Amino acid sequence: MNIVPIRDAAAPKFQPYIRQTISRARQWEWLAPDLQEAVRVVSHVLPFRTNAYVMDQLIDWNNVPNDPIFRMTFPHRDMLAPDDYAQLRELVLAQGQGQPPSAALAALVQRIRLRMNPHPAGQMTHNVPRVNDAPLKGMQHKYKETVLFFPSAGQTCHAYCTFCFRWPQFVGMDDMKFDAAESQQLCAYLALHPEVTDVLITGGDPLIMNTRALAEVIEPLLAPQLAHIQNIRIGTKSVAYWPQRFVSDRDADDLLRLFGKVVASGRNLAVMGHYSHAVELRPDIAQQAVKRIVGTGATLRMQGPLIRHINEDPHSWAELWQTGVRLGAIPYYMFVERDTGPRAYFQLPLARAHEIFQSAYQLVSGLARTVRGPSMSAFPGKVVIDGVAQIGGEKVFALQFLQARNPDWVRKPFYARYDAHATWMDELQPAFGKDKFFFEEEGGSRSEALPAYAPRKVIPLRRADAGSDAELPHSA
Ligand code: SF4
Repeated sequence: MNIVPIRDAAAPKFQPYIRQTISRARQWEWLAPDLQEAVRVVSHVLPFRTNAYVMDQLIDWNNVPNDPIFRMTFPHRDMLAPDDYAQLRELVLAQGQGQPPSAALAALVQRIRLRMNPHPAGQMTHNVPRVNDAPLKGMQHKYKETVLFFPSAGQTCHAYCTFCFRWPQFVGMDDMKFDAAESQQLCAYLALHPEVTDVLITGGDPLIMNTRALAEVIEPLLAPQLAHIQNIRIGTKSVAYWPQRFVSDRDADDLLRLFGKVVASGRNLAVMGHYSHAVELRPDIAQQAVKRIVGTGATLRMQGPLIRHINEDPHSWAELWQTGVRLGAIPYYMFVERDTGPRAYFQLPLARAHEIFQSAYQLVSGLARTVRGPSMSAFPGKVVIDGVAQIGGEKVFALQFLQARNPDWVRKPFYARYDAHATWMDELQPAFGKDKFFFEEEGGSRSEALPAYAPRKVIPLRRADAGSDAELPHSA
């Protein structure tokens, strides 16, 4: 691995903006008063953070408020229900700028947040691994082979997406937050679970951490007793919101060396790059970031959700995937917006999501057709809409699991009645007059509200070499 240092005395420093500081940005005064007000009001409920790179390089201010990156980082009033917005507005405007929130405002904010399904798909109730029936902090284990780890220092992002499905991580709902101070428990847990091949370090954005702190999480995973860990994944949006992280930041070269070290150990270092729009990959620095990542021998996969008002244009997806492939990245997932937060504002019907995916897919060559979608990260697993078909006189969605709580369900086709308005798994009904999907007949459920498919098992704490009968922790 030959890392060519890029040193630029004028390399930009990361400059974030939040509600309290956004008025210092030169672009702030370009916003109409109603747009400024929406930022001040909505950001009490949902997180708001942007940065100078996003504002200077990615947003087209001639196209505001419809610019996709503006919509992606600046809250809009319609993200809240009209009544909620009106009540909140009254309290926010009454308290004056810079004042701490009144008790009435804090109570209203909490009520609105709790109505927004802060942890969808059983994240708090069904995915948390346990040892001796004690939950492990800052970890999720939903699918047999993959464990998610949330380092506490990585629970912010270089900017916040208005549609973020992990928004409770950022708004001080501490009892709803996933984070772990260090990786000792993670390694102990992995040593007990030889069936785990992948660790996904995620957030927030772990690449908000400096390289030294990230190395403290990653290097212990290279220990000989964890030889079953083949893939170390890092979920990150920095490739789009702050590509300088890989190019000109003070420790950018160290980061690439760390990637190289993982690769040299015989493992795969997979950067799971969160890209939402073709604009994000147009700047030179964003393209340099991709080349530098893949130059280390790491892989870079591109994934992101399909979001109304932001990336409904199939041509944007096609350009994004084609540019990525040209630079060495791998298109991976188009997700359906999850059932949390301001979903009503951002969601699209599944039928429309399928049309957009299909149109984009038809625009690209086979090398970009590694992408899967549109895929719902639903309670029972990752469900992809393969198509719309007419079978036995009935119009149906053809579906399958790409991942599932029960591995036996993966890649078994199943069918739902076509519904032009359905936006999520729990709104779909089985086709052909059935009242259950096949996995419900096997004890699974469509949504968290229904009974879990199997009783929770107590996992005895034992060493990995004490036998191979370690049971899955997430069988609840
Ligand atoms: S980068 Fe990911 S975790 Fe961060 S705000 Fe956006 S969607 Fe949420």
